[in-house]
Amino acid sequence: MRINKIFGELSFNQKVMEERLSSETYQNFMETLHIGKPLDRSLADNLAHSMKVWAIEQGATHFTHWFQPLRGGTAEKHDAFISYNENGHLIEHFSGSQLIQSEPDASSFPSGGIRSTFEARGYTAWDPSSEVFLLESGHSKTLVIPSVFLSWTGMVLDHKTPFLRSHLALENSVIRLQRLLGNRHAKRVIVHMGLEQEYFLVPKDLYLKRRDLQITGRTLFGLPAAKGQQMEDHYLGTIKPKVLLFMEELDQQLYRLGIPAKTRHNEVAPNQFEIAPLFEEGNRAIDHNLQIMNLMEIIADKHGLTCLLHEKPFQGINGSGKHLNWSIGDNTGSNYLEPSASPLKNITFLMTLSAILLGVHKYGGLLRASVADAGNDLRLGSNEAPPAIMSVYLGSYLTKLLEDIEDSKAFNEKKISEISLGIRRLPMIQRDTSDRNRTSPIAFTGNKFEFRAAGSSQNCSESATVINLMLTYGFDYVYKELSIMSGDSKQNALKIIKSILSNTKDIRFEGNNYDDQWVIEAQKKGLPYYKQTPHSLEELTKEETIKLYKNYGVLSKTELESKKEIRLDHYCKTKINEFKTAVNLCHSQILPCVEEYISEISDILLKLKELEKESPAMQDKLEILLKNYEEIQKSINFIEEQLIHLSQIANFDAKAKEIHSKLEPSFIQLRGLVDSTEKIIPGSLWPLPSYQDLLSRF
Ligand code: ADP
Ligand code: MG
Repeated sequence: MRINKIFGELSFNQKVMEERLSSETYQNFMETLHIGKPLDRSLADNLAHSMKVWAIEQGATHFTHWFQPLRGGTAEKHDAFISYNENGHLIEHFSGSQLIQSEPDASSFPSGGIRSTFEARGYTAWDPSSEVFLLESGHSKTLVIPSVFLSWTGMVLDHKTPFLRSHLALENSVIRLQRLLGNRHAKRVIVHMGLEQEYFLVPKDLYLKRRDLQITGRTLFGLPAAKGQQMEDHYLGTIKPKVLLFMEELDQQLYRLGIPAKTRHNEVAPNQFEIAPLFEEGNRAIDHNLQIMNLMEIIADKHGLTCLLHEKPFQGINGSGKHLNWSIGDNTGSNYLEPSASPLKNITFLMTLSAILLGVHKYGGLLRASVADAGNDLRLGSNEAPPAIMSVYLGSYLTKLLEDIEDSKAFNEKKISEISLGIRRLPMIQRDTSDRNRTSPIAFTGNKFEFRAAGSSQNCSESATVINLMLTYGFDYVYKELSIMSGDSKQNALKIIKSILSNTKDIRFEGNNYDDQWVIEAQKKGLPYYKQTPHSLEELTKEETIKLYKNYGVLSKTELESKKEIRLDHYCKTKINEFKTAVNLCHSQILPCVEEYISEISDILLKLKELEKESPAMQDKLEILLKNYEEIQKSINFIEEQLIHLSQIANFDAKAKEIHSKLEPSFIQLRGLVDSTEKIIPGSLWPLPSYQDLLSRF
């Protein structure tokens, strides 16, 4: 396989457009994309026609608007390219208006009370900044149109819209500031993102025997395998042939879709892997990540495997995250986080850094809330993922450089070039991996930041939106300060940077984020520390959050309130689903198995008695089993009672907190009982494939 021979063959990309569109249509479309020229009807018709012809040539029969509802995942409704002509004959048809807009019924998507069902109409609108592509499943193909999803009244119902709006806000504030600094070339802001995706693969036949995995995405019971990850022999180990076959097919499909899959490797936990494409423009990187997740599940299935994207499929074993590598630059090709030989560019570097520090300092809690959900609660703050406290790691060299700026009395030309020289040495220093801190949630890694707290199954738009807004806030602060100062703008900028550096020190942390001492220290500093989702989501409706989203035209107060409600509801539903599944598993599989073994042992003990023999060890085992049986039964009775009580609580906030404070501890207790029972029951009787089976068979 030659990658560049197949790369992008399923995508209606720039190359295809150049070949197929008239030069006028192509030119007009590029202007729409790059300078925001409105997409008029005739342009849309021309584009739609060209897409239809291309798609049908490739074997497509249908098209779909593909969007990102707030419930998670992606959504699609396929329509065939057919219509009647004026003579009533069936023709192949796809118009500009069908390309631009579609009207799926929105009543079954979460809206957090924004819409009542009688006005349930929603609409999807094409996002032309993300490539249209062909979905291959079944025997035909479907033309997929990446879209935003709004209610008929214009309320936001998806993840993509706020992200695109936050990018616009960031762009406006960056360009304004660059102008003030004398940069006339920057016209568009480009955010690059590289998303590293972790996942597990398990044999499909075993997956099908575990209802908890099927229904909740994670194991609700299970005794840690004798060989867990203590040996640390999986990370970057030889990739087993069966897994490599899966990875190869995945990569090949991704190349055909124009997704630049770059890295594939074994991760730390047994059966855990990672895929990372090359970085791309942020909006595309997110859409591509969603495509990757969808494809991984489909392709794994073809290989007799099941791909688990849950944040914590196995207790006691590392969970899966999604690292968001992030940098910002403009149309001139410059990366503001890339050190350079030009002192002016290095001022931009320091300003970008300051904007990030200011943003995290003010909105760290909100950033934490962006990754809060039931799955990630099981991962954040364990000794494998960053804690739920947002801090920034800069590395010792950059820290020293910033301290030097803070200590400076004056910023004359000599000092500025000294600082500039220091910044230029950065990439060399940062490339030295010994200077990297893998425990930090937000780490500077040479010419980008890496945000490591996102969960493996999440849509990264949520955190990327917060990051964009945090920076917008930071850049605007710098702009306001700078615009009221007179004199040399470089020196003024350094003065502002200096004050930001000393005011945001609390959120800089270079040590081990897994250390309990850091949690104590951070709490002393007053940094937000939300261990669990229900509390963390309070950030969404705080006054400063509402102001931030409103000022930058991203979401209204009502939309934020509804977002909070949707996410709380999602948390509650996820947890309730887990509790119900656990109880059902106990009723249908665990307790009958315990009964069977109790009866087996009792029979043996009876026979021994007949032979006038006894086995105290077996007698003890029987006692333990009987005790566990009673305890499990009591525990599920309690959970069932609590579930009835919970169904009477209408307020999502109260419900989520009740789940966290009452039901979760009871479930943990139940799990403890079941797991200790698994330990004494023969593997041949235990009804669920064990961790050992699930994690050792490639
Ligand atoms: P790691 O050591 O964490 O595996 P890598 O250097 O391999 O980091 O990069 C991880 C991800 O970061 C990849 O998707 C890569 O393309 C992306 N990346 C690299 N440079 C940038 C950048 N300037 N902006 C955004 N993402 C980047
Ligand atoms: Mg990595």
